[in-house]
Amino acid sequence: MQAPLFAGVCRVPLATRMNGVHERAVQLEKDAFMVMRCFTALLLSLGAGVTMAQAYPAKPINLIVPFAIGGPVDTLARGLSNSMALQLKETLTIENVAGAGGTVAANRVAKANPDGYTLMVHHIGMATAPSMYRKLSYNPLTDFEFIGEIADVPMTLMAKLALPPDNLTQLIAYIKSSNAKLNLGHAGIGAASHLCGLLFQSRVGVEVNSTVFNGTAPALAALMSGQIDLLCDQTTNTTRPIRSGRVKVYGATTQGRIAAIDMVPTFAEQGVKGFEVVVWNGLYAPKGTPKPVIDNLVKTLQWTLRDPIFRDRLANLGAEPVSKERATPEGLAKKLKAEIEKWRPVIQKAGVQVD
Ligand code: ASP
Repeated sequence: MQAPLFAGVCRVPLATRMNGVHERAVQLEKDAFMVMRCFTALLLSLGAGVTMAQAYPAKPINLIVPFAIGGPVDTLARGLSNSMALQLKETLTIENVAGAGGTVAANRVAKANPDGYTLMVHHIGMATAPSMYRKLSYNPLTDFEFIGEIADVPMTLMAKLALPPDNLTQLIAYIKSSNAKLNLGHAGIGAASHLCGLLFQSRVGVEVNSTVFNGTAPALAALMSGQIDLLCDQTTNTTRPIRSGRVKVYGATTQGRIAAIDMVPTFAEQGVKGFEVVVWNGLYAPKGTPKPVIDNLVKTLQWTLRDPIFRDRLANLGAEPVSKERATPEGLAKKLKAEIEKWRPVIQKAGVQVD
């Protein structure tokens, strides 16, 4: 079972492009990392990993994803779990627990056994939920152990191909002049796609209807088959359909253009200011998970964020791993607190609250 794993990671590209001193240093660092990665996989494939007595992990870890399979959080979690598995010498199985903008999963993890075998990847929705849900049955700040932030993922606003407007200006005029309201898909109250839709409506002064999905993978499928009109989603889901022309795209929610899809203009450069959303993501465990386990996971997360395979995969999808400082329990706690404060007034102003 381990041999394919070894075969899959041991294509070590030794330095071939050595133009400048900097490029050489970067390439050598990448090569050294790949050799380490390869060596780890080799040990694993020979069964040596099993003989290295380790208290944790002693069995597969359940990694909970709060949205449907194939969407942005799922994609990030699967990339992360592949790299973490190499380092931990144990499998991480993904469980998609979708519903209510990610709060079903967070509630489940908050109440799970804190033994290190239940973890969760969650995004900005951890910070929007306390303002969106009046009866939230967990506290994002006190019911979890923080392992660290993972990656920043920007968003793009897209439409089905049949929608007439070809650019943002036309889209705004079309929504303002058309009698029928357009239908925007999102992944539930408090999800990034919901937040992005709210910001779009408030920044350009329009209103749209919404359709809720279990995640933005099914929302994207509905967009491409013409069942919904609009979707704002992370680039980890939208880069491929944008590149292959299967959707229309109106803008990126970033300050500067996104390298992976640099033909897409930002909202700011099209005259819509203050419409910036970067979806940050974190790794969590239930409160009370033993400190040595958390320390091990922090070390593993940091290793993963330096893994060239994980990094290249993210870069290709317009996402960026966070710095070492942010990939820590303190970094994630700080981010979550700041983001809860940041979004509270925006959500209150939008008047979106559910039980
Ligand atoms: N991109 C989704 C969101 O709107 C979640 C997902 O399906 O990963 O938050």
